[in-house]
Amino acid sequence: MEGYSTHSGEGLNGTSKLMDFLDEPVPGVGTYEDFNTIDWVREKSKDRDRHREIASKSKESTWALIHSVSDAFSGWLLMLLVGLMAGALAGGIDISAHWMTDLKEGVCLVGFWFNHEHCCWTSNETTFVERDKCPQWKSWAELIIGQSEGPFAYIMNYLMYVSWALLFSFLAVSLVRSFAPYACGSGIPEIKTILSGFIIRGYLGKWTLMIKTITLVLAVSSGLSLGKEGPLVHVACCCGNILCHLFTKYRKNEAKRREVLSAASAVGVSVAFGAPIGGVLFSLEEVSYYFPLKTLWRSFFAALVAAFTLRSINPFGNSRLVLFYVEFHSPWHLLELVPFIMLGIFGGLWGAFFIRTNIAWCRRRKTTKLGHYPVLEVLVVTAVTAILAFPNDYTRISTSELISELFNDCGLLDSSKLCDYVSLNSSKSSNELPDRPANQNVYTALWQLALALIFKVLITVVTFGMKVPSGLFIPSMAVGAIAGRLLGVGMEQLAYYHHDWVIFKGWCSPGADCITPGLYAMVGAAACLGGVTRMTVSLVVIMFELTGGLEYIVPLMAAAMTSKWVADAIGREGIYDAHIRLNGYPFLEAKEEFGHKTLAMDVMRPRRNDPPLTVLTQDSMKVEDVETLISETTYSGFPVVVSHESQRLVGFVLRRDLVISIENARKRQDGIVSTSNIYFTEYIPPLPPTSPATLKLRGIMDLSPFTVTDHTPMEIVVDIFRKLGLRQCLVTHNGRLLGIITKKDILKHMAQMANRDPDSILFN
Ligand code: ADP
Repeated sequence: MEGYSTHSGEGLNGTSKLMDFLDEPVPGVGTYEDFNTIDWVREKSKDRDRHREIASKSKESTWALIHSVSDAFSGWLLMLLVGLMAGALAGGIDISAHWMTDLKEGVCLVGFWFNHEHCCWTSNETTFVERDKCPQWKSWAELIIGQSEGPFAYIMNYLMYVSWALLFSFLAVSLVRSFAPYACGSGIPEIKTILSGFIIRGYLGKWTLMIKTITLVLAVSSGLSLGKEGPLVHVACCCGNILCHLFTKYRKNEAKRREVLSAASAVGVSVAFGAPIGGVLFSLEEVSYYFPLKTLWRSFFAALVAAFTLRSINPFGNSRLVLFYVEFHSPWHLLELVPFIMLGIFGGLWGAFFIRTNIAWCRRRKTTKLGHYPVLEVLVVTAVTAILAFPNDYTRISTSELISELFNDCGLLDSSKLCDYVSLNSSKSSNELPDRPANQNVYTALWQLALALIFKVLITVVTFGMKVPSGLFIPSMAVGAIAGRLLGVGMEQLAYYHHDWVIFKGWCSPGADCITPGLYAMVGAAACLGGVTRMTVSLVVIMFELTGGLEYIVPLMAAAMTSKWVADAIGREGIYDAHIRLNGYPFLEAKEEFGHKTLAMDVMRPRRNDPPLTVLTQDSMKVEDVETLISETTYSGFPVVVSHESQRLVGFVLRRDLVISIENARKRQDGIVSTSNIYFTEYIPPLPPTSPATLKLRGIMDLSPFTVTDHTPMEIVVDIFRKLGLRQCLVTHNGRLLGIITKKDILKHMAQMANRDPDSILFN
């Protein structure tokens, strides 16, 4: 069964793969023919047989017993390795991205490898209030023209900021284009497709992993409106897939491998946000297709190991795993649920708007000349992003820094609410504090925030889907956080100036804040992320793991639910499903209802005017007949019947098994020639001594292929395919074999019923 091992990995020959990538232009992913379908039922039964064999052997010798025990533990060991590898990679990505982001602004003279914050940590001259000011850290203007203030310095810094951004994004897109086209995007739509039982060659290979890791750092540092969270899920899945090659059990079984990949996607989120439980739930709610309890426990363990590894690396330097730790000091009031729900509505609207516009833009990219110039596109978008981002304080900093600042309790607005006071009292570490002067003009801040909101909304639409690794979580959260903060500030002002109103009675106690705008930012972020991805449970858990704000579950839940309702009312699909559809990936959606009244006979092949079904007969074919059949057709399997006349079904043989068996028999078995008879029967009639040896192939035949009758409603057939993970199903009439339905046939039929063109690359 060599075929299995070379399917989804990147094969053994790395150099030839490199050549493939260099020779090939960017592959136009999207035709169904690029994808192989796996058969869950068959893979699971293979695994059961393997277990039985190991169990029976384990009684024979101590060595076999050890083998059986190690086999049982191999799953956990694999999880440990995936967690360690993904955690280490994520740590490396975090550290490098932080450093390179700061490189856009300046350099550390003590050591160029220090980022801004670490540079000033090492300095004795740093004061607590001006933590980011130290003589060791030099802006580019200081270094090049020797000025730190003034218009020339500003222009110099501006120029350097844009140039670095362009350089980083150019490197990212060039590497992706030349070496690993699959490294672009977030990867989640493709991983969903793979987990649902398809094989995309090379998608989770070593080469993709390497290039995605490097280009992710570059893309994030370039300041484009994208995040590293989705791509980290892809990176973790690549780790899972590569490590599967170390264990025969997983290498040879596509269904088992998918269990590992489900766990790996949990690991991805665990390291992306420092949210292990959220990761497990994300895998369950959003990406996985088949998620038994065993996978849940393994995901939990892998996510734990990954989080632990990341924590040991301590990439944020704050000894905390979470990205946006918050500590609010005033409780929320029941009436605040109204603005929280309003934020939910905004999140839903944003989600629906984003999905529509982004899909329209991506479709444009595919169908017009725009798609022919990916490098130019990335450069133009980066230039626009950098040029517009620099003048605005809120967009110049990295998006995660912005979110962290918006979540913060201390005032963007009110200088009396000293951040430092709050921070010292709540023992926050220094890097979570906003570096903006507290006395900044209120209205400028609000204007800047509003402009940042418009900018983020528009630029994210064109950024997601470019040929660089790009995640959606962080930009969506940023949009929500800005909107939330604006609303929060508005509410705060209202409550402050009208504290005598009945509804605000008791909200503003002397010496304390009236309300917490940071909480609004947090709720807004959750709402917008929910609107785009349509996650609910996992979203709320990720949010409270991400911020440590366990008390705010109710506001978060209310916002997540409202945003899902609103977004679902406008368009049913989340962004990942929309991209699956756009790219024409063969994904059998478990949530979508099939409500049409068609029957199996309307879908089965062959169609009315097609040549008849290609079948094997159980005892009347010769080796050469079968070989001709194999060379003349491309079907991945053949039904076996009693005879052409009766068409009574006996079983089903996979093309791959047939090819391998005949090849092996020709090489190893004496007397097998082209005229040898092939038997799929149990009983082989005695043959005259002069006739050539016979080939018995009953062993490779599936004796219980799934069958339906031609009158079975397609609703039921679709359900069977979904629930059992079938690859194909045979259709009979009065016991006679009539046709075959494959998973792709079903997908094409569903597309047709929904008035979409089933054969086009663009599936919409
Ligand atoms: P897939 O649909 O996954 O590409 P195949 O390559 O096996 O799978 O089949 C290609 C098409 O040919 C499908 O539409 C299927 O219904 C049809 N088909 C499959 N096996 C046979 C067969 N033995 N004889 C005739 N048609 C077949």
